Amino acid sequence: MAHGFEFRGSRIPFANRAVGIWTPAILSREGGAALSITTTHSSRYNDVERDDGIFTYSYQGENDPDNHFNRALRRAADNQVPLIYFVPLTRGVYEAIFPAYVMDHRADRVVTVTADTVGLGEGSLLHGGSAAPLKEYATRQVKVRLHQHRFRELVVGAYQGRCTVCRLGAKDRLVRMVDAAHIVPDREERGVPEVPNGLALCKIHHAAFDLNVLGIDPDHYIRVREDILAEHDGPMLQHGIKAMDGVRIVVPHAVALQPKREYLAERFETFRAA
Ligand SMILES: [Zn+2]
Repeated sequence: MAHGFEFRGSRIPFANRAVGIWTPAILSREGGAALSITTTHSSRYNDVERDDGIFTYSYQGENDPDNHFNRALRRAADNQVPLIYFVPLTRGVYEAIFPAYVMDHRADRVVTVTADTVGLGEGSLLHGGSAAPLKEYATRQVKVRLHQHRFRELVVGAYQGRCTVCRLGAKDRLVRMVDAAHIVPDREERGVPEVPNGLALCKIHHAAFDLNVLGIDPDHYIRVREDILAEHDGPMLQHGIKAMDGVRIVVPHAVALQPKREYLAERFETFRAA
């Protein structure tokens, strides 16, 4: 975000940590619109709590709706030019929503933000009218994706980037092999992701958990299904799966981040019935 891009020989950041509404000098000199808006960490969940197809973004500064930040923001609305909306996933990690369009609601000192449908493979819809429902749909999809990304960041972060079963992960490239798995199916489509309903699992153990090849009991012991234990196959089955039977998963130190006992119990019943 700070590194930005080259334009006419100068480097332009995509965002500026110090301000939520960012208009680079080259744009503000020419009476242009804001390039990006960023939701700050302290207000991070306000934007996703609403279960609908829009985000709301507050004017900058309590008392002055006509300061240069807000004027640049309104110019994006008036001219219907796209900007980038940066939404925090966890501290220091942002999702970029682009192209995003804003509509001004001056009386409430907010703009509403909708995502375009480019990400859905629908082509760009630059104006409102009949495109509005599609934009709301696109924005809802963006919110679902945001929630999934946020859940992954929080859960994988809580397990320090490692699979709770086999400890794979942590290093840059290997951490991409680690997923955040739901213990019981996702009950919070949006809103605050629930880390105690998550487990960091590598791709293999994620699949094994989802397919009930292995289960995790409420006391954190791994159980491999009987018929799988009787199978003979290559080293992955032998060392990666069968050898995990009876091993305890490694969970975060903080109790608030550990898997919730009742979720493990509910999920383990499904495993036993499999
Ligand atoms: Zn694993």
